[in-house]
Formats: sequence, C-alpha cells, structure tokens
Amino acid sequence: MTISSNHLDIAVLPGDGIGREVMAACLEVLSAVETTASGGPPLKTTIWNAGAQYYATSGEALPDITLDACRKADAVLFGAMGWPDIRHADGTEIIPQLDLRMALDLYAGVRPIRWFPGLPNVLSDPRARDIDFVLIREQTEGLFYARGKGELIDDRDAYDTMHISRAGTARVSDFAFRVAERRQARGKKARVTCVDKANVFASMAFFRKVFDEVAAKHGGIEADHAYVDAMALTMVKKPWTLDVMVTENMFGDILSDLAAGLVGGMGMAPSADVGDAHALFQPAHGTAPDIAGQGKANPCAMFLSAAMMLDWLAEKHNEPRLETRARLIESAVEIALSSGTVPIELGGAAGCATVTRETIAALPSAI
Ligand code: ATP
Ligand code: MG
Repeated sequence: MTISSNHLDIAVLPGDGIGREVMAACLEVLSAVETTASGGPPLKTTIWNAGAQYYATSGEALPDITLDACRKADAVLFGAMGWPDIRHADGTEIIPQLDLRMALDLYAGVRPIRWFPGLPNVLSDPRARDIDFVLIREQTEGLFYARGKGELIDDRDAYDTMHISRAGTARVSDFAFRVAERRQARGKKARVTCVDKANVFASMAFFRKVFDEVAAKHGGIEADHAYVDAMALTMVKKPWTLDVMVTENMFGDILSDLAAGLVGGMGMAPSADVGDAHALFQPAHGTAPDIAGQGKANPCAMFLSAAMMLDWLAEKHNEPRLETRARLIESAVEIALSSGTVPIELGGAAGCATVTRETIAALPSAI
C-alpha cells in the first residue's frame, strides 16, 4: 500500500487522568523524533474528546465524531480512560476503549515485554536481561464475551459463558505467527506458544485444535502449547525462554499484568489493539487516579506504544523511515533509563516531565 497524501493522520485520544499527562509528553517526543530523523511522512496528530471526564460535561463517553475520526485515521493513539466517581447512570464503568475495540474490530491485543537497562528488576537472575517476548491476547470473545451477559439464578448460582469461535481463533493465531515471522526476520527467536487449558475445557481444546491447524500453515515457525497455570510459573521462573504467545481474552488479561510486573510496572508496558483494517496504540495501564495530576506518571509505556504505532505504519505503508523513528524512540528511552533517569514508579525520583526531557535529550545520540 502506498501513502495517498503526504502525511499520516493520527487520531489522538488522551482520555482521563494520567492518560492526558503521558499523552502530552508523547506528542512532544513524537515531534522531536520527526525533527531528529528527517525524511518519511510527517504525522498529523488531531486531539479528540472521549472518556469519563468528557462524559461528565457532555453526557457522551465516545461521541460519534470521535469514533468517525478513529475510523478515518491511519492509526489511533490512546492514553487511558475511566474515572472512579464518574459512571453511567446505571452504575457501570465508563470504558469507551471496549466500544472502540468492538467498533473497529481490533481482535488482537499485542503486549510486547522487554527488559530495559537500569530498571530495578524483580528477577535477580542475570538472564532477566534477555526478557523479550510478545503476548497476544484474543479480545473479541473468550471469557469476556460474557461481559454483561452472565446470569445469577435465585442468588444461588451464577454463570458466565466462554465463547471460542473457529474464525476468531484462526485469525488471532494467524496474527501471532505473522508477528513471529517478523521477529524472525529481525533475527529474534521465533516460536509461538498456544496458552490454554485444553485439558479441562472443551472450548480451550477447540482453541488448541484451531491453533494447530493454523500452525501447520506456518511451517517455518516452531509451535508448541502450554497450560495457562504452567505458563504463569514459567513467566516468573524463566521468562527469558519465552517468544510469542497467543491466548484467549481473560487468560491474556491476567498474564499481561503479570508480564508488566516482571519488567518493573505498568508504566513500562506498551500495547496495541490491532485488527485487519485499524489499529490503536495505548499504554497497558489505566488512568491511575491515585497519582493523577501530580506529575508522577511514568510516560515510557506511552512512548513505547507510539513506537509500536510507527512500526505498524511502517509495515502497512512499506516505509522503512517510519521504522527508523520507532527504533529511535526505543533507543532514546533505553539511553535515558540507563543513564540514571529512574521513574518514580520504579523507585527513582524522575517524574513525567523529567523522563520526557531526558528521552528527548537522548534522541540525537540514539540515531
Ligand atoms: P484499569 O482498570 O484501566 O486496568 P487499573 O485500576 O488496573 O486500571 P491502573 O491505572 O492500570 O489501574 O494502574 C494501577 C496502579 O499502578 C495505579 O494506581 C498507579 O499507582 C500505578 N501506575 C499505573 N500506571 C502508571 C504509570 N504510567 N506511572 C506510574 N504509576 C502507574
Ligand atoms: Mg488493570
């Protein structure tokens, strides 16, 4: 695909709480990156309203005009949304990100986990430095399919439903193999592990069966399986052995928080929600009301999510100069962290502004 106009349109949804803070920092970094690495299409970023605080003033959490802008944009950059005291009239949480996921059919949740130098690591083993894996979570069905549809009977029994479809499993498995193929092309390990509970649930046995069928079509990539409980243990005991994993919605939700904890915290965990036509990039964390407005948020996950966006755009538009910019962001974060800028979240003294300033200052040497 070629780029039709000379710029790429990015719909920016800062949202609530620290989402707004890390997004403002990220836009600064993105424009500094464009100045440092000249060439390639510029990004045209447009800020759109959505989220709990916007709901409080307008009665709408995700206005049509914002959804429409997300549909038309080349990519969506997202902060975080939701706020404890602001809820829908029926008491439910305001989470427009789930509506966006469904509206844009963003079926693959991508969580790359990497160790960065200088971070206090919960793992003392020196091999923890080699942590570099990608967790892929199916996010349109699975156990979360039951959201709002569960049943409570006579205050005695409660039921939720796990829904696994052939089409849903096949597309997310295929996505995982394509991620592995790209990693292999970059000289990284490439094995795809299906994480399930096939020994207990019919739905999970089916997930594994469809995964195996897809694996057979990707002969160049090794495929294996793990039960989700065993995977939780492996993730803590020897995460450096992991490559690409694919799993159902709720298992993926739980494992991705565990994975973020491995590398220091939510502020180090970027993520992407990807479909066939659209993609949205956001830090894995929420709005963190406890630290919002205090300048304490760690913006690294937001920066690394923007790097994922540049990688995705680079591939989609066959534009290696966008990939150069993605590597530049990652290297600058790496340089900033390894030269003594330790975010407050990780036990240091660097607030959002300091981490941002040091990342931007590292850009010229990151080239
Ligand atoms: P969600 O429901 O959206 O997943 P959550 O309730 O799980 O949100 P988060 O906002 O993700 O909560 O974060 C949990 C806690 O981790 C926060 O309250 C905050 O203390 C800390 N935290 C999260 N993100 C960051 C960050 N970027 N920088 C510093 N601390 C963070
Ligand atoms: Mg959470």
